[in-house]
Amino acid sequence: MICIFCKIINGEIPCDKIYEDDKVICFNDISKKAPIHVLVVPKKHVENILECVGDDDIINDIVFAIDKVTQILNIKESGFRTVINTGKDGGQSVEHLHFHILAGKTFDESFG
Ligand code: AMP
Repeated sequence: MICIFCKIINGEIPCDKIYEDDKVICFNDISKKAPIHVLVVPKKHVENILECVGDDDIINDIVFAIDKVTQILNIKESGFRTVINTGKDGGQSVEHLHFHILAGKTFDESFG
């Protein structure tokens, strides 16, 4: 069965798009956890970050898109948090790799 992010990528499901190129699409999360909450999604269907071992291009394409999104939203200098959830215990609910960009508030909690 085709995953929900693949449906967004092929236009079957609409999204609130922030940035797109031939490798990546970036859109607002439907359930925001911060004033700015954008998902950065590679167009190639890979389930999670571990499927990217040995694939330098996909991570490079994602980081390129993060740079674009943070410029567009004017948070490149002020800062933002990136989150990647992996697997059930990691809180991953959509099995298509995505990076969360969260910003617009101060994140007091630190991961050490
Ligand atoms: P994760 O829990 O890390 O897998 O993140 C999946 C994210 O996708 C959640 O934050 C959801 O709110 C978000 N999400 C699910 N469906 C959509 C959709 N149709 N448009 C935008 N965001 C979505």
